[in-house]
Amino acid sequence: MILPDSTLGVLGGGQLGRMFCMAAHSMGYRVWVLDPDPDSPAGAIADRHLQARYTDHAVLEDMAEHCAAVTTEFENVPAETLEFLEAHTRVRPGSRAVAIARDRILEKTFIREQGLATAPFFAIQTSDDLQTACAGLRMPALLKTAQLGYDGKGQFAVNSPSDAGQGFRQLQQAPCILEERVDLALEFSVILARSVQGDIAVYPPGENVHVNGILDTTCVPAGIGTDTKTQAEAMAVRLAEAMQYCGVLAVEFFLTRDGQLLINEMAPRPHNSGHYTLDAALTSQFEQQVRSLCGLPPGSTELLSPVVMVNVLGDLWEQGTPCWERLFAHPGVKLHLYGKHLARSGRKMGHYNCLAKDPSAAQDLAQEVRTALAPEQR
Ligand code: AMP
Repeated sequence: MILPDSTLGVLGGGQLGRMFCMAAHSMGYRVWVLDPDPDSPAGAIADRHLQARYTDHAVLEDMAEHCAAVTTEFENVPAETLEFLEAHTRVRPGSRAVAIARDRILEKTFIREQGLATAPFFAIQTSDDLQTACAGLRMPALLKTAQLGYDGKGQFAVNSPSDAGQGFRQLQQAPCILEERVDLALEFSVILARSVQGDIAVYPPGENVHVNGILDTTCVPAGIGTDTKTQAEAMAVRLAEAMQYCGVLAVEFFLTRDGQLLINEMAPRPHNSGHYTLDAALTSQFEQQVRSLCGLPPGSTELLSPVVMVNVLGDLWEQGTPCWERLFAHPGVKLHLYGKHLARSGRKMGHYNCLAKDPSAAQDLAQEVRTALAPEQR
């Protein structure tokens, strides 16, 4: 076990790294953050901000020498970075799990290999693959880049083979998947933590609503039946065990209108849809990340209150700084801002958790605060 007073490392200095730092600090650990961005949200509060490229071997050596263990806040960290660090210190989750989650082709193939369902898809490396895929799938479909897509970026709506060809050219013929667009009843995610010893703690699923491809709200408990919940949790656990995973794992699900339960994707780290755990669970997903990194057993994932998490995007700054006093007027609403200076449209600036005695009261509260903060209300 790595105990308090030790130093931990995190690759990536965004909001996830920042919330990891906060959890680690409150538990008595020191944190080094590696991120080339001089203004990174996590770098600003880290004990040491290594402002360097992820492939800078001298810096990685320094990190490995001083950090008892290293984790990552994003899956797009270069594979060589994790492999280099693994040769020198503990890295959790390991490079194999991160490599699977980084690439939609590897990820969906891996999920299928575990006997679990995804939307029908074809891997696309060449124009010939695209033709085969168009013949083998029902339209409409989505063309998604295998790597580096997030928040709906790197995706094309495809209604015909010619759309698919156009999308593939626009993506510079990078490896992709073509996937059937399924008829969604709802989306939800299951987040779990798995320790080095293999102990697993699963959080209650969160029901997710996306707007323009970006997560807007997560509501817990999710509006799904007990069978669906049990089945989804078992599917998430199966993935974690198959990877011998150590860390926090987020698995996104689609529930279709005809009742199919499909896995969309997974993230080898805390997830935006788990931010509700900061205020509404006994252990936050970031404390869980610290615990699994340090070889400690997982904390309790018990839900303390129904909750709706609302993301705060840069658009809220359209008419100036939002009137936060209107949010603070509600004692059951908890604001988390990430310390980002530039409020661009679509940029995740923070989130707030609305806690209430039942899910519908939490939804009402979230709506009330959203209306009060809207730029047009200023
Ligand atoms: P992704 O980047 O794959 O997580 O996709 C972002 C969002 O697009 C998802 O959360 C869904 O709302 C939607 N989406 C992605 N793939 C599909 C699909 N095959 N069918 C229906 N909606 C999808």
